Amino acid sequence: MRAFIRLGLAAALVAPTFASAQAMDSTFAEHEKAWTTRPEFSSALVDHLPAGGAVPSPRDVLGHDIGAPRVLDYYADILKYYRALAAASPSVKIIETGKTEEGRPTVMVVISSQANISNLDQNRRNLVRLGDPRSLSPDEAKALIAKTKPMYVLLGGLHSGETGPPEMLMELAYRLVTEDSPLIQRIRDNVIVAINPATDPDGRDRYTDWYYENKVDDTNDLDPVPGAPYWGKYIFHDDNRDINYSGYSATNLLKWYLEWRPQVMHDLHESVPFLYAFSGQPPQNPDLDPILYAELPWFADFEMAQLTKMGMPGVWNFGYVDAWSPGYVAFMSSNHNGLVRFYETFGNGGATTELRHVKPVDGPGQDQHAMDQTKREWFRPNPPYKTVEWSMRDNTNYMQTAMLTALQLTSQFPDQILENFYKKNLDSLEAGRTKPPYAFIIPGAQLDMTRAALLVNILRLQGIEVGRTEAPLNLADGAFPAGSFVVKLDQPYGRLAKVLLQKQDFPDPKLKTYDDSAWTMGMMAHVKVLAIKDPKALEAAAPLIERDQPAGAIDPPGARAYAVLDHGSIELARLRYRLKDTLIRIVEQTFVAGGKSVPAGSFIVDGSAYEKLKEEAVPLGLTVVALEAPPTVATHEAAAPRVAVYSTWGSTQNVGWVRYAFDEYGTPYSLIFKDDVRKGRLRARYDVIIVPSQGRNSRALVWDVPMRGKPLAYEKTARYRNLGDYGVSPDIRGGMGLEGLEALRQFVQEGGVLITLGDSSAMPADFGIAPDVQAAPASKDFYAPGPIVQAKITKPGNPVFYGYDDASFPVRWATNSLFSVPELHRDEVLMEFPGSKAGVLSGLMTTPDEVKHRPAIIDQPLGEGRILMFATNPIYRDQTFGEYRMLYNALFNYRQLGLGTETLEPTGEDAAGEGDTHTESGADW
Ligand SMILES: [Zn+2]
Repeated sequence: MRAFIRLGLAAALVAPTFASAQAMDSTFAEHEKAWTTRPEFSSALVDHLPAGGAVPSPRDVLGHDIGAPRVLDYYADILKYYRALAAASPSVKIIETGKTEEGRPTVMVVISSQANISNLDQNRRNLVRLGDPRSLSPDEAKALIAKTKPMYVLLGGLHSGETGPPEMLMELAYRLVTEDSPLIQRIRDNVIVAINPATDPDGRDRYTDWYYENKVDDTNDLDPVPGAPYWGKYIFHDDNRDINYSGYSATNLLKWYLEWRPQVMHDLHESVPFLYAFSGQPPQNPDLDPILYAELPWFADFEMAQLTKMGMPGVWNFGYVDAWSPGYVAFMSSNHNGLVRFYETFGNGGATTELRHVKPVDGPGQDQHAMDQTKREWFRPNPPYKTVEWSMRDNTNYMQTAMLTALQLTSQFPDQILENFYKKNLDSLEAGRTKPPYAFIIPGAQLDMTRAALLVNILRLQGIEVGRTEAPLNLADGAFPAGSFVVKLDQPYGRLAKVLLQKQDFPDPKLKTYDDSAWTMGMMAHVKVLAIKDPKALEAAAPLIERDQPAGAIDPPGARAYAVLDHGSIELARLRYRLKDTLIRIVEQTFVAGGKSVPAGSFIVDGSAYEKLKEEAVPLGLTVVALEAPPTVATHEAAAPRVAVYSTWGSTQNVGWVRYAFDEYGTPYSLIFKDDVRKGRLRARYDVIIVPSQGRNSRALVWDVPMRGKPLAYEKTARYRNLGDYGVSPDIRGGMGLEGLEALRQFVQEGGVLITLGDSSAMPADFGIAPDVQAAPASKDFYAPGPIVQAKITKPGNPVFYGYDDASFPVRWATNSLFSVPELHRDEVLMEFPGSKAGVLSGLMTTPDEVKHRPAIIDQPLGEGRILMFATNPIYRDQTFGEYRMLYNALFNYRQLGLGTETLEPTGEDAAGEGDTHTESGADW
C-alpha cells in the first residue's frame, strides 16, 4: 500500500512533463504492468507507450513488447527493428561504422527532432570545431554553442551476459521518436541521441543461443547455470579493458567517436541491485579535467534524486567503481574531453524472472564500505531489498527511467554541456602550454623502432597528434636524432597522451581500484619515452604523421648469408612464420661481422633465400645485414614447434588474449580443452603446451566448470548456429581433472615443454608437477592491482632473453601467488623481481618487500622435458608488447631452454625426428 501511494504521488509530480493527449498502446500497458514484479519497480516515464501510427513499435517488428519474460532478441532482429524505425521516421538516421570479427555490421542509430536530423552533418562539424579550440575565438565558440546541439551516446550489450540494455534501447528509441510529452519533445529538440544497439554484436548472438539452450529455465540464482564460454571472438569481459582497441567493435566505435565528437558516452551494464550510477569516486585520474569530476556526480545525483522521488528503491551512486583507469570503452569519451557515464542495473543474465538473493558481494574497489548492498548508506539512502522477485521488465523500467532522467538533464542544460566540452578542450591546450611536461619524445634510432611504431600508431588511433623530426633536435632535456617522434601536449588530446605515457603515481595506497593501477605505454612496450620539461619542445619542427611504418633495411644481394638483427622486435616472430619453409638458424651469442654487431637471437638465413627474405623482412621494419663469413659463435635451428594452447571452458578470456596475439602474429597453434588433455599421449602430438593464466586458482584450472546440473553442450546445431565456435564440447563441465594433470606431467616427462603463464604457474607447483617450486599467497596487506615492476634477468645467456638488450626491464605484475624455490635449485630461476619500493615503476604495490628476489621465471627440468613457469604474463591484453618476445623465444628455442644455465640439459628425441640441437661455431649454414 505504501508503495502504491508513493507511486501515485510520483506519477502526479512527473505528470506535467509527461502529460500527453496522444493515444497510448493499451496492450503494451497491460504487458508492462503484468511483467513488472512490484509497482514501485515502474515509473510514470515508462508505464505507457504511444500507439499505432506509421512508426513501428518493437512489438510490430519483433512480435513482443520489450521486457517479455523468456525472450531475448538476436542482433539481426535488433538491427531489423532499428532499420524499420529509420525507414518510417525522419527523426532517425542509421550510420554504418564497420564490421565485427565475425562480419556483423556495427551501427549508430541517431535520433533527434526532424530539424536536428536534417542539420546533422552541420551539427557534427560544429562539435568538431568546439573540440579543437585552437582555431576558435571565445566569441566564435559562444556563437557556435548557441546553434549546436549536444550529442549523447548510449552503449548497450558490451558485455553479452548483461542482456537487458539492447532490449531496453529499442523501446527507448521508439519512445524518443514517437512520444509527444513535453519531456520527450524537449529531449528531441535539444539533444541528439546516438544508440549503439549491441556493442558486442557477435557476443549478443552467441549468448542468446546459450540462453535459449541452457539458461531459459534456470531460476536458481544461488547456483546458476554458468554463462556461455565465449561472447565475441577473443576477449570476453575484457572488451571493457581493451585499452589499445584490439577489438573491431571498439575500434569502429572509436573511429566514429573521433569523427562525431559527442559530449557524453554512457555505457549500460548489469550487475549490482537495483541501479548504480557511476559518479567517479576516488582514486581519480588527476590529469583528466576537474570539470569531469564535477559533471559525474551532477548527473548521478540528479538520477538518484529523481528515481528516489518517483518511489523507485535501490538507486545509488558511490562505493563501487573508481575513476583511475582510462581503459574502459566508454572512457574514450572523458579521455577526449567528453563525459564518460555508466550504469549497473540489476539483471538476471537473461529474461527469466527469478527470486534473487541480494547478498554481500566480494570484489575490487569496495573496501571502504561494507559490501552489503542492501545496507543504507549516505550514498544509498533508499537501499535495495534483501530478496526480490526480479524480471527483465523491472530491469528495463529502471534503466529506461534513469536514461530518460539523464536525457532530461541534458535537454535542460544543453548549452552548459557544450560549454563544458569546449572548456575541457581549451583546458587541455592550456595544460600543455603552461606546465611541464610540455611534450613526450620517443627518440629515433632506438635499436628496435618497430615497437615504437606500435606505440605511435596506437596514439594516432586515439586521435593524438604525433610529429616526427626531420633534423636533430636539441632541448634542455637532451639531444634527439632526426626521426624522433614528438607528442606536443598543447593539443586537444595532450592530456590523454600524458595519461597514457607517464608513470602512474597512485594517489593513496589505502584506496582500491576496480582495474589496473598502471598502463604506462613505454614501459609496457619496452620503448624509450621521455617526458620533456623544456618548453621549447612546443616549437620543435616535427611535421605531423598519419601513422608510422618503420623502414626496414637489407644489404645488397650476393652474400653467403644474412643476419636479421634481433633487438626484441615482435616482428621477428611474424617473420619466423612467414619464412616457415626456410631454414633459419639462431645465433646463441653476440658477435661482430663486418664491423656490425649481430646480437644473440638474430636469425641467420642462407643467401639463396635472399629474395624471399627481402620481401618479408623489410616491410616488417627489420634490419638485415650481409655476412661474408660464418658466425664465430654457436647457432641452432629456429624451431617451429607444434604448439597447443590449453583452455578451460569456464574462463576463456585470458586465453583469448593469447589467441588474439597468436593470430595477429601469424602463429600456428592448436587450441585444446579438457578432453584433448585427458586423452593423453600428448607428446606424440605437441612439442610445447602453453597454459595461459586462467581460472580463479589452481583448483579451478583443474576442475573448471563443476559437474553439477545437466550437461552443457557447446556445439553448433541447426537451431544454435553461434555455438561451437573456437572450440566444441558435448559437455563443458568437469575440467581436465587429475587425469589431465597426469597427462601433462607425462608430456613433460617424455620431453615436452609445458609453459605456464601468470596465475596458471601456481598449478604445477600446487599439484607437485614442478617439485622444486612453491606457490603461496602473499600477506593480507599485499595489494598489487597490475603495477609495472622491475624484473632482473639472472641467466642472461638463456634463449628466453634473446633480443633483450638490458639486464633489467619493466614487466607487469601478474599473479596472486608468490613463488619460491629452495636455494639448492636457485639456478632454475631465469628472472627475478628485485622488489622493494624502487622496484615498483608505475602503479601500486603496497608491500613490495614481499616480492624481493622472488622468481619471475622458473625453468624446472622434469624427466626429458621442462616446465617454464612465468610468474609474469608475457601476453596481457594486447598491452605488454615488451614481454611478448620472451614467450616467442621459448617457442623458437624450446629445445635449447637449458642453454645459458649451469648445466646444459640434453633434449629428448623429437617426435617428428628433428633432433636438432645447437651446433658449434662454423655451422653448416
Ligand atoms: Zn558489464
